[in-house]
Amino acid sequence: MNLIFLGAPGAGKGTQAEIVCEKLGIPAISTGNMLREAVKNGTPAGLAAKERMDKGDLVPDEIVIGILKDRIAMDDAKNGFILDGFPRTVAQAEALDAMGVQIDKVIEIYVPDEAICARLSGRRVCEGCGNSYHVDFKPTKVDGVCDACGAKVVQRVDDKPETVLSRLATYQEKTAPLKDYYSAKGKLKTVVGQDEISDTAKLTLEAIEG
Ligand code: AMP
Repeated sequence: MNLIFLGAPGAGKGTQAEIVCEKLGIPAISTGNMLREAVKNGTPAGLAAKERMDKGDLVPDEIVIGILKDRIAMDDAKNGFILDGFPRTVAQAEALDAMGVQIDKVIEIYVPDEAICARLSGRRVCEGCGNSYHVDFKPTKVDGVCDACGAKVVQRVDDKPETVLSRLATYQEKTAPLKDYYSAKGKLKTVVGQDEISDTAKLTLEAIEG
């Protein structure tokens, strides 16, 4: 099963992908996590991406498409995967098609902009494994320490309020057109993000199975 999770930053794609990938036994592939890792390791892709990521701009298609192509060719993705944060432009969706990747379903997680801002200000991510947390809705068991791998949990530079608005504008301009792209192919399902993570997970699984 090849799935795409679509939605504005902070809608809960990563959190839902972490839950659903365990249930379905397929990896969750987050281009944002891979790019942050590349930045941390100072790879050529990371160096090229850092400035744009810090500003909340998209990284050029050719860089992200290259990273994604290598990742989905890996063994653990042979039986399917969940893409979280890719594609983010119509050009990236067309690149997936050109790679011959069959997408089964695209799940849009919809959350209104006002709620997004509140969610992002409390979001924290693990520097080690990329797991996401929220100071109120999904706190770590030990303050500042990842439950999964024990690494430090921090606020992302691009989750600061001044960057969030520009990321939302970028989403509307560049990524929201993908809803029409996949709707025209009969693949789009929309889930309304709920306050409780487990409620959204239930709706997400229903949308995938239905
Ligand atoms: P995310 O963790 O998905 O919010 O991504 C964090 C940042 O990484 C984004 O604001 C972009 O700068 C970059 N990024 C992640 N995925 C993509 C993508 N598919 N296309 C372009 N830039 C991306």
